[in-house]
Amino acid sequence: MNKKDLTFDEIPVKRPNLKSIQKNIGEHIAKLQAAKDAPEALKVIRSLDRYMDKLATIGTVISIRYSLNTLDKKIAKLQDMVDEMMPQVSALLNQWNKILVKVPYRADLEKKLTPYYFKMIENSLKSFDEKIIPELVEINKLSSNYDRIMGGAEIEFQGQKYNLSQMRKFSKSEDRNVRRSASLATDKWFAEHEQEIGDIYGKLVVLRDTCAKKLGYKNFVELGYLSLGRVDYDAKMVKGYREQIAREVVPVCQKLYKAQAKRIGIPFNKMKNYDWSLSFLSGNPKLAGDTAYLVKSAEKMYDDMSKESGEFFRFMESHKLLDLEARAGKAPGGYMTFLPVYRYPFIFSNFNGTEDDVNVLTHEVGHAFQGYLSANIKPSDFRSPTLESCEIHSMSMEFFAWPYMKDFFGKDDEKYRYHHLSDAIEFLPYGITIDEFQHWVYEHPNVSHKERCDAFKEIQGRYEPELHYEEGTCFSHGGRWMAQSHVFGSPFYYIDYTLAQVCAFQFLVEMRKNQPKAWKKYVKLCKCGGKYPFVSLLEKNHIRNPFIDGNIRKVIKPLVKILNSFDQSKF
Ligand SMILES: [Zn+2]
Repeated sequence: MNKKDLTFDEIPVKRPNLKSIQKNIGEHIAKLQAAKDAPEALKVIRSLDRYMDKLATIGTVISIRYSLNTLDKKIAKLQDMVDEMMPQVSALLNQWNKILVKVPYRADLEKKLTPYYFKMIENSLKSFDEKIIPELVEINKLSSNYDRIMGGAEIEFQGQKYNLSQMRKFSKSEDRNVRRSASLATDKWFAEHEQEIGDIYGKLVVLRDTCAKKLGYKNFVELGYLSLGRVDYDAKMVKGYREQIAREVVPVCQKLYKAQAKRIGIPFNKMKNYDWSLSFLSGNPKLAGDTAYLVKSAEKMYDDMSKESGEFFRFMESHKLLDLEARAGKAPGGYMTFLPVYRYPFIFSNFNGTEDDVNVLTHEVGHAFQGYLSANIKPSDFRSPTLESCEIHSMSMEFFAWPYMKDFFGKDDEKYRYHHLSDAIEFLPYGITIDEFQHWVYEHPNVSHKERCDAFKEIQGRYEPELHYEEGTCFSHGGRWMAQSHVFGSPFYYIDYTLAQVCAFQFLVEMRKNQPKAWKKYVKLCKCGGKYPFVSLLEKNHIRNPFIDGNIRKVIKPLVKILNSFDQSKF
């Protein structure tokens, strides 16, 4: 049977066998050591690449199946097996990488595989060594500890118990008293867990700092950047970028916030933190139909957008690669992943009847579209770029979907567009707050929890001056960062969302001028996959580089024009 024709549920679940994996990779390592020249080595490299694609597919099928039904004990066991095997497979690949970068005919290989391919390998070698395994194990444990505490949060509110994400719906209540007491209840939970969470973070920071020092770095900043595969920009460039956001975007946001305060009828200087989630007195944009209706609208939209997007979306549907609706037993959240052997993207989500559902059909589908377009790129390391580049594909697709929003939101379509764009702009100051805080933290690894909170408060005050918490609360003394999971589990990653957003904004502006031209540019970007690091990818695709001084101004100016074109009195 043709592998390409299987639907997702027809794909067999295979049980990985660590012994045979070790044997297979071991044989590849021996063959690489024995290879006398580049053509011979290339054969071995390609063979390992194919084998790793098979392994990745087995692992991904298991993890998808597990998230589709976490109650299935058989799959849960397989998932545990995969988790346990991962470090051992990584150790073998590390051994392989060490040999590969030192082969005498490396220059010949670089001609075939590009210097960037070797740069990526060197990068991963520079950010890992067996001597930091004890710290990494401890870091993983502490991060899951944090996730467990946050996931298990029970907040007493109006006589009921809610978890943290359930509390979010009260922040949009039109009743100010409800918003206020919900915010205070959440804050109280953080105050009660402040010592525990602060402790975990303190330990994480020291452990990451220890890893950095063991590997010969001054502190964790450089190591953190290397771990994220950032080879063509550094912390100094990111600092300059944050300064541009502060100069160009923070004032625009203050105007947006003033308009919001007016819309919801509260004087700007009286607005409190719990008021900012309420964007419109008439409520957030409402969906025009149920899941089936939304998927039909998406089908129509992708058909109209271009031939290849239409084919792609129908491919996803006919191969059952979209699992959208919430069900008992399904893991929370949403994601896009890829099955290399079958060349299938897969989208997982939990529709909840809010505008988030449309986000899955645009943002996650944008990720999947890139996966689909880059499916045949070889070697496999070049299929998908680093994380900041990945978010350009998804965030830009959100904007390419703009002309079709009537089919998703009916009469609320204009409200959706305004909300989407203003939200995306307002996110940038928060994004740089989280980023600057982390730089400060890792440059001062041995300070107390209170000093960290003080630093956060000072940074947040500069970038989000509109935010006022009630006196005496945990967040008023700088504790808000404890609610941001990335700070714990994915250091320095957060800025990626803002960098990608700045790039995606450019597609919005270009699309409104000339849709076919902008779309062509977007498809070309997606087809580049992971062949280039971030800054080179932007250069190759004529996207303004956010690190160049003056570029943020150029990106934001036309957005202000778009924002001003909305008639807010209708919202
Ligand atoms: Zn994304």
